[in-house]
Amino acid sequence: MTQQTSTVTQARPNDGKKPARPSVCEGGCACGAVRYRVTSGPLIVHACHCLLCQRQTGSSNAVNALIEADRVILRSGEIEQVLLDTPSGNGQRIARCRSCKVAVWSNYLINKLDDNLRFLRVGTLDDPGLMPPDVHIFTRSKQPWYVIDPDTLAVARFYDQDTTWSKRSRQRLQALAERVGVRIR
Ligand SMILES: [Zn+2]
Ligand SMILES: [Zn+2]
Repeated sequence: MTQQTSTVTQARPNDGKKPARPSVCEGGCACGAVRYRVTSGPLIVHACHCLLCQRQTGSSNAVNALIEADRVILRSGEIEQVLLDTPSGNGQRIARCRSCKVAVWSNYLINKLDDNLRFLRVGTLDDPGLMPPDVHIFTRSKQPWYVIDPDTLAVARFYDQDTTWSKRSRQRLQALAERVGVRIR
């Protein structure tokens, strides 16, 4: 799978019914060695139902909160990185606790932001309920018994960032790109 075609099957902008985004929260791995602090809400939260995420998590989907790396602060423990495949073919580096090997975040090598944009594994938050998905992606390979909340955007493959991300999040991403000196468009 190397194509990156976007297919939007349904479009519902976030209408404010979602819980308020946390300003500061914490999380960590299973053994307790890795602890991190998140200093703002995410840019967007993906629930990915692609077959690679299913295999890599051993579950029905991966829930990833996209956040600027400098807002996810490693407070203790050691991280090791493992390169794995993604639907785009570009790959992602998954950051795991060196002791218990639980994945706490990853970064997709799909744009030049690399390590500057983290995909935080929402299930590693102390309160995973703080970051519910904004969009379900790659639902074409979703398990039939996984029922998506009808008020949440769901797309067969991927979505158009300009019409899906909030204006504030697009501004934050642009600011990040300028700060680290890369052109994202
Ligand atoms: Zn650990
Ligand atoms: Zn996936």
